Amino acid sequence: MSGRATALLLTCAFCVGVLEALDFRHHRYEDMVRAMVNVHNECPYITRMYSIGHSVDGRHLYVLEFSDNPGIHELMEPEFKYVANMHGNEVLGRELLIQLSQFLCEEYRAGNHRIIQLIENTRIHILPSMNPDGYEVAANQGPEANGYLTGRSNSRDIDLNRNFPDLNSLMYYNEKSGHQNHHLPLPDNWQQQVEPETLFVIRWMKNYNFVLSANLHGGAVVANYPFDKLRDSRVRGVHKTRYSATPDDLLFKQLARTYSYAHGWMHLGWNCGDYFEDGITNGASWYSLSRGMQDFNYLHTNCFDITLELSCNKFPPEQDLEREWLGNREALVSYIEQVHQGIKGMVYDENNNGIRDATIIVDGINHDITSGAAGDYFRLVLPGTYTVTAKAKGYKSQTNTVTVGPAEATELHFYLKTDTNEKERAPGKNKNVLGKIFPGRGGPR
Ligand SMILES: [Zn+2]
Repeated sequence: MSGRATALLLTCAFCVGVLEALDFRHHRYEDMVRAMVNVHNECPYITRMYSIGHSVDGRHLYVLEFSDNPGIHELMEPEFKYVANMHGNEVLGRELLIQLSQFLCEEYRAGNHRIIQLIENTRIHILPSMNPDGYEVAANQGPEANGYLTGRSNSRDIDLNRNFPDLNSLMYYNEKSGHQNHHLPLPDNWQQQVEPETLFVIRWMKNYNFVLSANLHGGAVVANYPFDKLRDSRVRGVHKTRYSATPDDLLFKQLARTYSYAHGWMHLGWNCGDYFEDGITNGASWYSLSRGMQDFNYLHTNCFDITLELSCNKFPPEQDLEREWLGNREALVSYIEQVHQGIKGMVYDENNNGIRDATIIVDGINHDITSGAAGDYFRLVLPGTYTVTAKAKGYKSQTNTVTVGPAEATELHFYLKTDTNEKERAPGKNKNVLGKIFPGRGGPR
């Protein structure tokens, strides 16, 4: 038993829910849902449980949200997400996210300042299983006899991490031609092209203005960052050119390193018979992958997503779970804290209403982001001095220079004036932007 469990036994003899939650074991679907409900019951004022939809076999995709105001997007408070178990047979992430949920709840109640601050300043969404059907198939085999691929796919035998619309090809074309570098459009019939689990996750991504996330896998130990897809398939096999950097490459490396160095052993590099310097890798330089969730986040939303490979054994035996939790705990918390770096602020019109979907452009980084429904934006960048422009249809652009330090986000607000010239040229186009008034605290868009 861990020191934490022992301490709780001594101080909390009647806290049945908490104690029950502390044993390290695998959770079948009903067990997982019960564990999430337990956390909500233990911490009702800082959590909310909701479903984003259901799997092919009808299992709900449940999310546990942590916030000091659950269910509400607070202005300038970033949204973060963790997604695990999209490959049904890669189960460690699922258990770690259940542990993390219990940990956040317990530590908040125990008065841990770091966790209280995190929950007060961040809205954290935790989806422990994106593929609950695949998990049940893998779990029926059990940890001892688990085949390498059994339960990986959903129940229609589709690999969910090869199931997102491919936006990379368009991006690689656009960056050469100077066209749109963010929020690339989906194909008209995308809903028919993806599995239910993927569909609900994409809708979820569209409903919340996520800023940072990670998806948790197994089968290796490394933090993998975008792009996953090779830039040019003709150079396949040529090692030097396989690295497929995003315009935010330095930032992504730093995000991946934050996880690997806060992890017990990932940063050492030698794991599962493979070596990764610093315990991180660019996706394409490891092996190229199309239609993955990580690249999709970056190309279609404001969210920066990395893929965490967390264990050599995809279905580790229960006796490994506590060691894995202790090896990942600090990393899981530190990574969430990264959502508070860079630049954030409001984009206002002349009446102090927030402007949604304003474009935020950082000079020298060919990837823009946009403001959320209430007009707030979050631009993760490394420390440095940046020239930043806010642009919105119907308004004159504004440019400011800002210096970003290593600690919390630097605030930079924009006040955009109506562009009367543009209004005369295209009177209809302004209506969307000007006609809508957004309350200071709105729900998800
Ligand atoms: Zn995986």
